Amino acid sequence: DAYLTAIDAANPAFNAYIAVTHDKARAMAAASDEKLARGEGGALEGIPLGVKDLFATEGVHTQACSHILDGFKPRYESTVTANLWADGAVMLGKLNMDEFAMGSSNETSYYGPVINPWRAKGSNADLVPGGSSGGSAAAVSARLCAGATATDTGGSIRQPAAFTGTVGIKPTYGRVSRWGTVAFASSLDQAGPIARDVRDAAIMLKSMASVDAKDTTSVDMAVPDYEAAIGRSVKGMKIGIPKEYRVEGMPEEIEALWQKGIAWLRDAGAEIVDISLPHTKYALPAYYIVAPAEASSNLARYDGVRYGLRVPGKDIADMYENTRAAGFGREVKRRIMIGTYVLSAGYYDAYYLQAQKVRTLIKRDFEQAFANGIDVILTPATPSAAFGVADQDMAADPVKMYLNDIFTVTVNMAGLPGIAVPAGLDARGLPLGLQLIGRPFDEETLFQTAGVIE
Ligand code: GLN
Repeated sequence: DAYLTAIDAANPAFNAYIAVTHDKARAMAAASDEKLARGEGGALEGIPLGVKDLFATEGVHTQACSHILDGFKPRYESTVTANLWADGAVMLGKLNMDEFAMGSSNETSYYGPVINPWRAKGSNADLVPGGSSGGSAAAVSARLCAGATATDTGGSIRQPAAFTGTVGIKPTYGRVSRWGTVAFASSLDQAGPIARDVRDAAIMLKSMASVDAKDTTSVDMAVPDYEAAIGRSVKGMKIGIPKEYRVEGMPEEIEALWQKGIAWLRDAGAEIVDISLPHTKYALPAYYIVAPAEASSNLARYDGVRYGLRVPGKDIADMYENTRAAGFGREVKRRIMIGTYVLSAGYYDAYYLQAQKVRTLIKRDFEQAFANGIDVILTPATPSAAFGVADQDMAADPVKMYLNDIFTVTVNMAGLPGIAVPAGLDARGLPLGLQLIGRPFDEETLFQTAGVIE
């Protein structure tokens, strides 16, 4: 009830929730109360969570914040949310996001932008919460849920976490089932939690992760007790500092933040090692080929027949066109055009195939670093703090928006786990985050190291 009251009071200012499931929340909470009264209950019994609109929730509108999925109510539950409910969590509602998870500011949502609960000192200007999981990050930051589900294809958990002073982890590709999560770029998509602190993120991820026969890319590996890793000493651990992340034009305060993180880990007994990830500079351009290519294929299913919106036409082809023209927003259309272009005959070899080769090289850079004994890699999470809503520079040039993902996309391209942890404030009093990147399926070490930074 406290959360529902807080949402009703504060959500109009933030637009973090696009739907609040009051009745469902109360029914689930009542069931939890009964279980707890009997001395039963799961790891998350009675904990109220928000759900990114990308996760299919049975009988509850699931639209990926797109107009094209208007009125779509799945008859099934995503594996991730089913796992959370099985552990006793309570669903508060669906959270705003960039349309089909495409964006870095939550401004491509059909339901309008999310406002970051943080403001710069002495300013009233609205800031973005980051994206695409902007609703998740804002809701956690504004205390409108105890934690939230999120997804990360190229930074969409870690960048919004960094912009809102919250913790977000993208697990290793395969750690979490993608079944029932609306697909953006299937070889990159992974779900994970955004939470208030490292411990909450550890508890949530433990519940979300599972092998799943319905997602053959999910991996059959025991899910460790992540919470138990927090507080373990990092003494003797090797922390890699990749020189390629010191990008041109990086603000001094980001460099200072990075140095602060290095000092904290060194003081805790870790060994700091300079490393090189030579193909880093190709990650962003390669990502913006691979992700749109997969997206253009995944989005072909929205044709006005099977789901949501239908805009009639004189024949079926006309109906497809009218539906897709009206149903998809600008950024989604841009991705479809880029994706179909790089996959088309004649350009496939020049773009898509090259990008896939680059992807392998990026992965090998990391493999080499880990083979050399590096346990964790430390980088800034984002090249800046949160920026203003309707930033003119970014509106005029989509590539400027894409540059937000410069430190995060490498991790998706390599399939590795990455966590963003709040590490301080910039000169304007806005949160900044550091990122830790780990070995495949070694999320434990990320939680252990993040515990030192937090
Ligand atoms: N900002 C990136 C994009 O727009 C990443 C999005 C995501 O991780 N879902 O593609």
